[in-house]
Amino acid sequence: MRAFIVGNGPSLRNTNLELLRDEVSYGVNAIHLLYEKTAWRPNHLVIGDLTQEHRDWVRQGGTDREDGRINRFLDIINTNTSAQIHIRGNYGVWAKPLLGPHNNVSYFDVCTHHSMGLDDTLEDKAPSEWHLPQICRWGGSVVMAIQLAALENYSPLYLLGCDLGYTPGTNNHFTPDYDKFIVPAKADALNAVIANAHSLANSQWEIYNAGVGGSLDAYERVNLEELF
Ligand SMILES: [Zn+2]
Repeated sequence: MRAFIVGNGPSLRNTNLELLRDEVSYGVNAIHLLYEKTAWRPNHLVIGDLTQEHRDWVRQGGTDREDGRINRFLDIINTNTSAQIHIRGNYGVWAKPLLGPHNNVSYFDVCTHHSMGLDDTLEDKAPSEWHLPQICRWGGSVVMAIQLAALENYSPLYLLGCDLGYTPGTNNHFTPDYDKFIVPAKADALNAVIANAHSLANSQWEIYNAGVGGSLDAYERVNLEELF
């Protein structure tokens, strides 16, 4: 069965997500900021990254629910009640006590021998192959979502809103509000790492880029409207 992986790129403004209402779909991170503009909701939500403020909260012990720095994380949980939420496993140390038992929250095993690559160069960090069932962090949340969908044997996978071409300080996401969620990264390294991760995914699974525009060219492109 096919599934759709929905990133957080600006092309979502020009994407008819209503088409996905009867499809299996994976959203990532702060996709809930789009919900006031669409009736579509993902069946799965993958949380593979944190905001800078949130990282600081975790580094300082991360137990106080009243600390405002955790609000945006809790918003993600509280606005995705109809999705199965997949949280990166090493976040469980603070997230499990924070959230308590949740029927729709689970934690996936994620590697520590690769970084997310947000500020890294490719030379000595890029994985040469995936290592499922453990999910690789390399490349960030969208690529983690691809791996989770592949583990569930969904095929082919269609990407939407995965635009690549991150540039600091510009409107890189589907809403300007998203900037509150951004951890500043070295753009050249980030784009190279994400492109590298998608090339690796393309070598492994049947994946198509059904997004509008953007600069992710690792996959064959298809027109979303023609899939229905
Ligand atoms: Zn890895």
